[in-house]
Amino acid sequence: MKSFEELGLDTSILKALKDAGYENPTPVQEGTIEWAIEGHDVLGCAQTGTGKTAAFTLPILHCLANRQDKGIKALVLAPTRELAMQIGSSLRDYSKYMRVRHTVIYGGVSAYEQIKNLRRGVDVLIATPGRLLDLHNQGHVNLSKVEFLVLDEADRMLDMGFIHDIKTIESLCAEKKQTLFFSATMPPDVRKLAMGILNDPKQLDIAPAEQRVDSIEQEMVILRRDRKRAMLTQWLDENTEGQVLIFTKTKRGADRVEEDLQEQGYRAVAIHGDKSQGARTRALGDFKRNKSRILVATDVASRGIDVDQLPFVINFDMPENAETYVHRIGRTGRAGAKGKAISFCCEDDRDILHEIEKHLNLEINKNTEHPFVLSERDLADVLEKPTRGGGRSGGPSRGYKGNSGRRGFGGGGGGRRNDSRGGGSRGNDSRGEYRGGGETRSDNRGEGRTENRSEGRSETSGNRGGSGYGSSRGGGYGGGKSKSSSSSSSGVKKKFFSGAKK
Ligand code: AMP
Repeated sequence: MKSFEELGLDTSILKALKDAGYENPTPVQEGTIEWAIEGHDVLGCAQTGTGKTAAFTLPILHCLANRQDKGIKALVLAPTRELAMQIGSSLRDYSKYMRVRHTVIYGGVSAYEQIKNLRRGVDVLIATPGRLLDLHNQGHVNLSKVEFLVLDEADRMLDMGFIHDIKTIESLCAEKKQTLFFSATMPPDVRKLAMGILNDPKQLDIAPAEQRVDSIEQEMVILRRDRKRAMLTQWLDENTEGQVLIFTKTKRGADRVEEDLQEQGYRAVAIHGDKSQGARTRALGDFKRNKSRILVATDVASRGIDVDQLPFVINFDMPENAETYVHRIGRTGRAGAKGKAISFCCEDDRDILHEIEKHLNLEINKNTEHPFVLSERDLADVLEKPTRGGGRSGGPSRGYKGNSGRRGFGGGGGGRRNDSRGGGSRGNDSRGEYRGGGETRSDNRGEGRTENRSEGRSETSGNRGGSGYGSSRGGGYGGGKSKSSSSSSSGVKKKFFSGAKK
C-alpha cells in the first residue's frame, strides 16, 4: 500500500491530512488519487464510508494547488443537499492550507447567499444538479472552464431523475476535461451514462458490500408489524447509550416515530424531504455533535449522514431492496469502528429478508424471543426461504409456506456464510442467479408513497452481481478487518436483546 506522500500529493494537502488524523490512504483513495493525478478518467464503484470523498477531492486540490487563474475549474455534482454539504466540509478540511476557494449550492433554500458566494469567485463548486442549472440559466454560473467533473453517487442521481440535468451540465463544461464518476451500484442505466461521459476510464470496484458489512453485527427481530413502536421503545429503554439512526420507509412514518419517541421523552428528531432545509441542517448538526441521540430518517434524507462513531442503526421498516439495506447499515461500523444493525422484520417481510441474506451470502441472526412474537404460522412463513422464482406476487401468503418452522435458523445457523468466497471480487456468484430469477416481490408492504424512486426498482439490485469490473481491489474502508461477522456467533437469541443496559 502506498502512503499519501508516495501518491505525490502537494505538501499543503499532506499537512491537512495529518491534521485530520489520516495515516494511510483507503483502497479507493490509493487507486483514484494516482489515476486522477496521471490525468485518467475514473469509474469507481464505491459507496459512502470507503473514503471516496477524499479520493476525488485530493487529486483535484493537488492539481489546483498553484493555479492563479480565475473561474470554476472543478465541479462536483451530488444528489442531495446533505451530501453536497458533507463534501464541502471535507473539502474545507483538506484545503485548509491552500488558496483554493469553494462553495456549495443546493436547492430548498434561498439562492441569495449562494449567488453572493459565486460572485466572490470559486475554484471548486459543489452542487446538486437542479439548483446548479437554475443558477446557470440565470447567468450566475459559468461552467465553461470546468476541467474536473465529479459525479458522486451517480446511481442516486439517476434514481432521483437527474439524468437529463447531468447530461446538460456535462455539455456545459469544458470539452477537454477529466471526469471522476462514482456510484455505489452499477446498474445498466448508470453504466450507460458513465460510458457516454467517460473517456477510456480506469475502473475501480471498491464496494463489495458484503465485506463492508462484515464488521457490523446484524440482527433481525422478527415481530408483529403493529408492535414495532413498542419494540423500539423497549429497545431504547434497554440500550441507553450510544447514538441511534432509525430508518423508516416513508416521510409520514418518520414523523410518526419521531412524535412517538418525543412523547415518551426521548431526544429524537426526524429528517426527510418535506422538512425545511434549515430543520434538516439543524437536525443533522445536532446529531453529529451528539446533541440529539436519535435521528429518524428516510433513505433519501439519510444521504450525507457521516458520523464516525455511530454504534446503532435500526431499520424500523425493512428497506425496499438489499442494496438499500447495505447502504443503511453501512452508516454504522464506519472507518473501522464497531457497529450494530437491528432490523424489524414483520409478517410480510419474508422476501426482502431472504433477498438481503442472499445478497450478503449470510444468514443473519434472528431474534424471535421477545414479547412481540408472531404466531407460529407467521413466523414459519417469514423464515421459510422462497423457492427459486417463487416470490410473492400477490397471492395469499400461506400459499408457499412449508411446514418447517425455523428451518435453517436454529442453533448455530445464524450469521453463517454460505460459502467461502474471499477477496473483493464479485464474480458470477449465486446472487445474480437468484435475484435475476424472476422473483417478484409484493409491493404491498408500503405505508404510502415511497420517497425514493429507486427503491423497488428491480434492475438496481438485479445487476450487481455481474458488473464485470476487472479491477476489484477488495475491502472497503473500515471493512475487511474482521472477516467473520459478529452475528455469526450464535443462532436465534435466547434472551431479548441480550447484553442490554438498563
Ligand atoms: P467517505 O466515504 O468519503 O464518506 O468517508 C468516510 C469517513 O472516513 C469520513 O469520516 C472520513 O473522514 C474518513 N476517512 C476518509 N479517508 C480516510 C483515511 N485515509 N484515513 C482515515 N479516515 C478516513
